[in-house]
Amino acid sequence: MRKKIVAGNWKMNKVLDEAVALTSELVNMAKDEVRNDAKIILCPPAIYLTTIQKYIEDAPNFALAAQNCSDKVSGAFTGEISAQMLQSIGVQYVLIGHSERRQYFNETNALLAEKVNTALSFGVSPIFCCGESLEQRQNEDYIGFVKNQLTESLFHLSEEQLKSVVIAYEPIWAIGTGLTASAEQAQEMHAALRAHLASKYGAEVADEISILYGGSVTAASAPELFAAPDIDGGLVGGASLKSREFTNIIKAR
Ligand code: PEP
Repeated sequence: MRKKIVAGNWKMNKVLDEAVALTSELVNMAKDEVRNDAKIILCPPAIYLTTIQKYIEDAPNFALAAQNCSDKVSGAFTGEISAQMLQSIGVQYVLIGHSERRQYFNETNALLAEKVNTALSFGVSPIFCCGESLEQRQNEDYIGFVKNQLTESLFHLSEEQLKSVVIAYEPIWAIGTGLTASAEQAQEMHAALRAHLASKYGAEVADEISILYGGSVTAASAPELFAAPDIDGGLVGGASLKSREFTNIIKAR
């Protein structure tokens, strides 16, 4: 059975008090209201990870992800955060290849392959983000484009390594725009990505990989998206900053 996951990417938002308040509200709401077995992954800014960890320690369905890590193990890389540091504070997941990192920090598929390797070597599971731009969706083989992101950043992994990876399909045209992919559009891509994984690793392995959808998910759009057979949960940006909205999304999973 694939893991059901709802992850909240806070990006560069919230000061410390706000981050703590949001976490406390989410933990309390989840305790009172969430009856499904979804894993809830919070991705706060790295500076808050150790603090937020204390607020989720009695909530076993919660886990933490960093929003990024270095491809390097350690050394003179001022400002960077390593996978080993994440491991040392007990962070289980890391977002790798978010479209904002690809766009603003020029992260290529080859670099992301290195980041995936480094994260896995320290036991931190990558949440590997992929997705096409609006231009690519309109003009090109958009499914082939996203399949290639997987090929170039993940297909060197062993079967055992791949099983530790979560994939998040996030069409760039739907991130932060209020435009959500329809459940049909998302399902089409998720099924294609799962078939692509199966072509390399076999159907049984592909069937174990959680593939999340991300892109303007709200409590209103989540139920239909999450009902699609190949959508195993969501990676949520804007709506994860509001405890009521995010809890309702979790409940839809
Ligand atoms: C994201 O940043 O991963 C994301 C999906 O953002 P939003 O939900 O705001 O579109």
